[in-house]
Amino acid sequence: MKDLEKKLIEYLESEHKFAQMVLLNDEKLALEVSIIIDDTTLGPGLGGTRWRAFATRTEALVDNSRLARDMTHKLALALGEDTESAKVGVSFGGGKAVIRGESTQDKSKRKEQLRAYAALINSLGGRYVTSVDVGTTVEDMIIMREVTKWVAGLPQEMGGSGDPSPATAMGVVWGLRACLEAVYDTQSFKDKTIVIQGIAGKVGANLARMLAVEGAILIGSDVGEAAAQRIAKEVGAKLVPPDEIYEQKCDIFSANALGGILNDTTIPKLNCRIVGGAANNQLWEPLRHSATLQDKGILHAPEFWINGGGVINVAHEFHPDGYSQERAFTDIKRIYNRGKEMIEASRKEKISLYVAAMRLAEERVRKARKAKKTG
Ligand code: NAD
Repeated sequence: MKDLEKKLIEYLESEHKFAQMVLLNDEKLALEVSIIIDDTTLGPGLGGTRWRAFATRTEALVDNSRLARDMTHKLALALGEDTESAKVGVSFGGGKAVIRGESTQDKSKRKEQLRAYAALINSLGGRYVTSVDVGTTVEDMIIMREVTKWVAGLPQEMGGSGDPSPATAMGVVWGLRACLEAVYDTQSFKDKTIVIQGIAGKVGANLARMLAVEGAILIGSDVGEAAAQRIAKEVGAKLVPPDEIYEQKCDIFSANALGGILNDTTIPKLNCRIVGGAANNQLWEPLRHSATLQDKGILHAPEFWINGGGVINVAHEFHPDGYSQERAFTDIKRIYNRGKEMIEASRKEKISLYVAAMRLAEERVRKARKAKKTG
């Protein structure tokens, strides 16, 4: 059996059962959609819509299922049962949608496709809430909002939370504080050398600005040269070529560009004590490579914990009193507390932070499911 098929079967048969799967093939509109609601124990499935030309339906479903499960873990860590906002319903499970095909450029055809897709989301009655992901835009969400209210990530002037990137960067800063405390016994970034891969990106640039204010020494790289020069000048960062970024001597290596960058080739090059950034799926083989980093004495912050700031911000659009940046930012700062709790557990049980984070996320879902059954 091929690898992809195996992965799909693993997901379908996994002990942690998915909640719902919806498939749509609309030949007239050339629209092929899958929505996977991975888990609704903590609330409706929340997760963006990815629009990509997957080669096969199986490939699209594998990606969809992996991303949906990731959202369950991310949201379980992001919004604790102990927060004021969770008590009033700002609590979500994991979900994700995939539109398979070339992203339509023809505006009126795209609008028709998005409206049909939004009608499908609407038919789920709030079990799935979507937002922007690779291949979709805020403009797409505005079109979909005309058909369904189960869309988030809208502009602030429409009562939404706007671009999530500054909130994501802020969450990374708070997560890194917990890591700094564990490794250097300080919360301060002053004079710490921090490498930012993807420094010109939406998260990378915001992160660089926040860390510069805190007195950090910055080194960055980005394939977008002109944009990288601009932000480097603004924050006083030194730029290095993208393929020389891994071996830079630093305190923190922060990945904010691509997934899969922590692998057998790059890990031996790392010259840092902490790895933590927003990029999704950084570990090429999560279990094996999280252990390799731990053996090398590097504390790796799992991204589904440390990059939760953006999704926390988006989730706050569903606060009964409407979105408030103050309330959302209070919850984002809790990424620090969650980190402290997980770092302590990982040290006590001699496991990697990745395993500790996974355990805590799964445990939270399991406990809530049990409480629901017995309640
Ligand atoms: P972005 O596209 O704005 O930024 C990515 C940056 O990385 C770009 O400037 C790009 O030129 C650069 N880049 C690409 N390849 C590179 C390479 N080989 N070396 C150096 N730089 C390279 O994306 P973003 O929104 O800032 O997101 C960055 C990462 O964080 C992504 O993995 C994304 O999935 C993840 N993430 C983002 C958010 C968010 O709120 N934007 C939230 C959670 C996770």
